[in-house]
Amino acid sequence: MSTPLDLSRLCVHTITTKPWAIETAIEKYAAAGITGMTVWRDALDGRDPAAVRRKIADAGLTVVSLCRGGFFPSADAEARRAAIADNKTAVDQAAAIGAPGIVLVCGADPRQTLDVSRRQIVDGIAEVAPYAAENGVSLYVEPLHPMYADTRSGIVTLAQAIDVCDEISAPNVSIALDVYHVFWDPAVEAEIARCGESGYLSAFHVCDWRVPTRDFLNDRTVMGNGCIDVPGLRKHAEAAGFDGYIEVEIFSTEYWATEMDDYLARIIDAYTKNT
Ligand code: ZN
Repeated sequence: MSTPLDLSRLCVHTITTKPWAIETAIEKYAAAGITGMTVWRDALDGRDPAAVRRKIADAGLTVVSLCRGGFFPSADAEARRAAIADNKTAVDQAAAIGAPGIVLVCGADPRQTLDVSRRQIVDGIAEVAPYAAENGVSLYVEPLHPMYADTRSGIVTLAQAIDVCDEISAPNVSIALDVYHVFWDPAVEAEIARCGESGYLSAFHVCDWRVPTRDFLNDRTVMGNGCIDVPGLRKHAEAAGFDGYIEVEIFSTEYWATEMDDYLARIIDAYTKNT
């Protein structure tokens, strides 16, 4: 007899199984015994979020996060105002589907210095945070790998993310740690501990870094198939007090072209063996 797998902390991002509509993802995740789901906003296109929320609950799944908000910086003031409005829309969507928090990809605008972009990130989060709090939604600052500092994020280390949270100092602003973005950082263990001490560690995303990486966005791989010490980073996070969902977030043109049922089985195997 085989021991039943413990999937009580496994969450899968809808983007991981991008070819599946959210209705299919809900059905397949639940059938596989997965317990958590992070919803990407594109998966909600054309749907009533309240109906999606009911479907997820009826399937016995928990909504872990909404992905994603952010992209605050711009050299254009009108675009900055539009970003604030879009983040407030994300808050409405998160509240409607019952997501406790929104992952923020903070943004950067190459037409201006990173210092300016970073200031606009802090200002943008500070402006959205009270509206999010009124709606019972948290905001998770996700530091991105520095290769994305041109257009995707001025926040590239956990240390910076901690500084942003300290500066804003709102109880609903904390951090999403993604192993793909921080594994290279020699200070990662100490910074994870510092996140824990500050009570900032709210989300934990996993995948692996394929060697060689053929595309900087859509060539992530399953845990154990690359060079990231995912179990080691998880240990540090848990030593820092993290006991939430382990969220599998894999962008992969290669896997998206394969059979999704087999892929989901492979993800579960990688979660139980290499995470
Ligand atoms: Zn992530």
